[in-house]
Amino acid sequence: MSAVIIDGKATSKKIREGVLADINKLSELGVKAGLAVVIVGDNPASRTYVNNKKKACAECGIYSEEYALPEETTEEELLALIDKLNKKEDINGILVQLPLPKHISEDKVIAAINPDKDVDAFHVQNVGKIMTGDFDFLPCTPAGVMALFEEYGIDVSGKRAAVIGRSNIVGKPMSMLLLHKNATVTICHSRTKNIEEILKSSDIIVAAVGREAFLKGDMVSEGCVVIDVGINRNAEGKLCGDVDYEEVSKKASFITPVPGGVGPMTITMLMKNTLKAACLQNNINI
Ligand code: NAP
Repeated sequence: MSAVIIDGKATSKKIREGVLADINKLSELGVKAGLAVVIVGDNPASRTYVNNKKKACAECGIYSEEYALPEETTEEELLALIDKLNKKEDINGILVQLPLPKHISEDKVIAAINPDKDVDAFHVQNVGKIMTGDFDFLPCTPAGVMALFEEYGIDVSGKRAAVIGRSNIVGKPMSMLLLHKNATVTICHSRTKNIEEILKSSDIIVAAVGREAFLKGDMVSEGCVVIDVGINRNAEGKLCGDVDYEEVSKKASFITPVPGGVGPMTITMLMKNTLKAACLQNNINI
């Protein structure tokens, strides 16, 4: 079997066109959606992500502001900026690029963001809403994966899904969204004992581990749907995921490549969340 390659770039483009159309409708109503992107320090990966987010804003007609702060910025200074952005009327969404320098508490900074402007959906209030299923903002990467399932007509209901990884950013919310769509979910992590057995008996696998070629061909069953969230660099410095693509694509029914799979979807979902924030803050339903 040769897998259908899930095209995250094409799906993203389609969704971004929809966001642009809605942003244009909003602007006819006199509302301009705005996103503030905050970056502290000069981590090159963070800089690339921030640049891509700004580019996506321009593509979707979203106004964006960048706040690039030096590495030695204090926690108080960053909190003061968040406070200012919380009150800024032309800003509907606030994104603080993680990771932050070690001397700044990420938890404190996330907690300081007004939950109505928390377009990353990391604030505990939004995390709680994801648990109950009554959410405004979906966490961007898991939401991007769900959008890919929808685009490719992959019905997760009643399926056995394994999520590898239990981070607050990917693994846990991913599991929750699959559960909301009636999948039977197993969350695997570094202490999981019978991981190969679990993966082999899964219809859907979402890998969010952060290790090159973690998921091998002999760990998946024929016809399995494989989503690779990982973003790693191999020995040659090339971007790669958590899945041994060469081996797994021979057995899977659907597979996401890296790059060009989940990555572009994450930023696209951030655009959708910013649009949603602007609508909610202006009591507009489009
Ligand atoms: P993370 O916080 O480091 O979490 C990694 C998870 O993998 C942990 O839960 C860990 O288990 C688990 N793990 C590690 N070794 C394992 C093993 N041998 N067997 C089973 N589970 C194991 O990473 P993250 O933030 O979730 O990110 C995961 C990957 O996704 C990274 O490559 C990251 O760059 C990428 N990512 C991509 C996007 C995107 O837009 N595509 C967005 C976010 C992240 P323990 O909890 O037991 O330690």
